[in-house]
Amino acid sequence: MSFGRNPLHHRRRTTLLAAAAAFAVAVPLTASGPALADANFPSPNGNTNIASIVTYDDVIAELDRLERTSNFGLDVMTLAEVGTEVSTSEQGRDLHVATVGDGPEAVWLQGRIHGNEPYGTESLLAVLKELGTNGSHDWNLLRETYTFHVVPMYNPDGSELNIRQTILQDGSGTRIDLNRDWGAGKFVAAESEAFYEYWTMVDPVFAIDIHHQGLKRQAGTGDEVTLSLGISLAPGGPTLPTIEGGAYDVLTRQMHVHVFDELAKYGNINMDRYQVGGSLEIDIKGGVVSAMMLGFDYKGLNPEGHSNPAVFFETSGNSSDGSLGQKARGKSIRQNVLAMQELLLGMATGEVQQEDAARWEEIPHAPVTGYQTDDGVIPASF
Ligand SMILES: [Zn+2]
Repeated sequence: MSFGRNPLHHRRRTTLLAAAAAFAVAVPLTASGPALADANFPSPNGNTNIASIVTYDDVIAELDRLERTSNFGLDVMTLAEVGTEVSTSEQGRDLHVATVGDGPEAVWLQGRIHGNEPYGTESLLAVLKELGTNGSHDWNLLRETYTFHVVPMYNPDGSELNIRQTILQDGSGTRIDLNRDWGAGKFVAAESEAFYEYWTMVDPVFAIDIHHQGLKRQAGTGDEVTLSLGISLAPGGPTLPTIEGGAYDVLTRQMHVHVFDELAKYGNINMDRYQVGGSLEIDIKGGVVSAMMLGFDYKGLNPEGHSNPAVFFETSGNSSDGSLGQKARGKSIRQNVLAMQELLLGMATGEVQQEDAARWEEIPHAPVTGYQTDDGVIPASF
């Protein structure tokens, strides 16, 4: 554990914000359209345009461009080049990771583990662009503090099929949710084995995972939620307080308190806490970021029991249920980029570690009635 090792740096916030404002227009790879339109968010009109969603080939081309144009040593690698035992997707696609930064601690950023959740990919490519080219104080600090390991498209097969899962190529046609596939008796899909082994090589100090959810309204107010702040092992729940003496239970809440406060300063971002079933906190162990926090050891690849705290963001709308309005595309990407950069900077400066974790209760949420676990629902007063 090495939280809080960094001194509190003086910050020049305006530099970062100016860069952030440029993201939304800098990001688009294939789509055009009103990036910052003030229309409803996301559109409920079912006007999802799959043709404008970034493809696997788009990602490879953009990673190649980012590598060539980087001023700060951004490297793109396939896991085959890294040398993991399993290195391709079920359908044989290369799995890509980009690294940038010279810091002593590793940070893991991933997106699109669910193939029908595209903006994680675009948000991570946007962050990579800044990490690769932005010479401002804040981005220098991030590169000096951390080495970033970025997985912009964890699930290329599902992405190409516009489905959540990957499909096993063993003849069964079984669909595997890759975000339930790190754990005892799991690692069924090739992607899971490949990225797990890479994670054991990286030993990150924390991780961020980008997702989409359906359309959601805030408990109590009924306002449209644009971004939900998630922790896949519930703070105060049956699992997280038992890990690392409760350190992750505290730090993950501090992370989201920080993101909530910082993003509240921007317009058009309406946040709440991620919950399922209306009033349940999620507490699943097979999720990738859950297994990271648990320090899961598979095939003896993690004998030292390395673990790291992790949080996730859920942008509202996905590309399967017709709820992903293109009008909201720019805003969706922008809010993820802002959330990531504020969290990264807050960690690097030590601001996150000074937040009051108890204020996690102030982030809007429904009164908690229970925990959604791998084995069903258990009541809040377990
Ligand atoms: Zn997801």
